[in-house]
Amino acid sequence: MKRNVSILGATGSIGTSTLDLIERDRDRFEVLALTAHSDVAKLAGIARRTGARHAVIADEARLPELRDALAGTGTSVAGGATAVCEAAAMGADWTMAAIVGCAGLEPVMAALGQGGTVVLANKEPLVSAGELILAAARRHAATILPADSEHNAIFQCFDFARPERVRRIILTASGGPFRDLSLDDMRGVTVEQAVAHPVWSMGAKISIDSATLMNKGLELIEAARLFPVAPDRIEIILHRQSVIHSLVDYVDGSMLAQLGSPDMRTPIAHTLAWPDRMPTPVAPLDLASIGRLDFAQPDPVRFPALRLARQALEAGGARPAILNAANEVAVAAFLDGRIGFLDIAAIVEQTLERYDPPAPREIEDVIAIDRAARSHADAAMKVLVD
Ligand code: NAD
Ligand code: MG
Repeated sequence: MKRNVSILGATGSIGTSTLDLIERDRDRFEVLALTAHSDVAKLAGIARRTGARHAVIADEARLPELRDALAGTGTSVAGGATAVCEAAAMGADWTMAAIVGCAGLEPVMAALGQGGTVVLANKEPLVSAGELILAAARRHAATILPADSEHNAIFQCFDFARPERVRRIILTASGGPFRDLSLDDMRGVTVEQAVAHPVWSMGAKISIDSATLMNKGLELIEAARLFPVAPDRIEIILHRQSVIHSLVDYVDGSMLAQLGSPDMRTPIAHTLAWPDRMPTPVAPLDLASIGRLDFAQPDPVRFPALRLARQALEAGGARPAILNAANEVAVAAFLDGRIGFLDIAAIVEQTLERYDPPAPREIEDVIAIDRAARSHADAAMKVLVD
């Protein structure tokens, strides 16, 4: 029997890697719903190629264009944020959540509401809404699988039956394009330099997050949500080759790691086939040609995002949602050329200082906190730029 799969954020980097795997194995997978923000041509092309049953463009103004592009194909179309959630709730057996940012929160909740397997590449909702997302998964008997390479690695190495035997989990970080730059040189970096990741090819937002190491900060919070390990037992280590994707350290001194080429198709394939395995076109690791693996402590002075994320995780409540929202605002402003690279973490820090609401109790609270934190971040940015 074919599995019904849906891809939220089908036109992005993760969406493209996911489609590459699905399209190689058309006998096993049937595409139910595809969503994208505004790239109608790309979305329509994917829908035609895959024979998707439903395609949604989040930017509602583009719906007529999408309707024209898919006329006569049998793919039904819709537009707007609500339609994205409706597509997520169509009952796929397997859903890839690959929207970027907290914009993916309601679609992820909608996908969880139908049971089935929901694969989280989209880490921001898990950072902001945390336990509320996990509770929704339990309520609807949905399975969450992590696609983020570090979390997928830990998932493969973690003994869920005996978590007390785990001493630490260790997230690896490539260090991004500025790992060897001085603080002074970091001040003047351009958008082009910041999005040029040395190892991974990814969307713009996560590329900037990788350059500030906020990505690793978000992943620290993500790990604390996904695995039964106290925050102070989650460590981060720089590993520039990005060959070891993360490690689990056991009480007997054994450390289990997952290794692989830095290609997101490996963790995505793991979630597509789980608990089985499937072949992928990813080149096998050639350890002899890699030669060596390096490790180092991240520098807390040049990368303050790590400290901010750890503090937000430890304080809990609304802090991770504020951290994430302020970061989204600051990254968008940096990509727009409105602020400098080091301003990103400064704006996040100032937003956290100025805004301290009570802990969210339901998803609506998270959405309200996310919105208010964005206004606070905008205000902090105005002060900085003036
Ligand atoms: P991307 O920018 O390449 O793609 C984002 C996708 O989301 C696109 O399809 C876009 O159309 C859609 N989208 C954007 N804003 C939207 C909105 N407001 N409403 C609906 N759809 C919207 O991003 P990406 O690199 O594929 O990353 C996606 C997510 O996966 C992020 O959360 C990222 O942190 C995570 N992730 C990515 C990678 C990677 O290698 N790219 C690795 C690990 C985790
Ligand atoms: Mg990652």
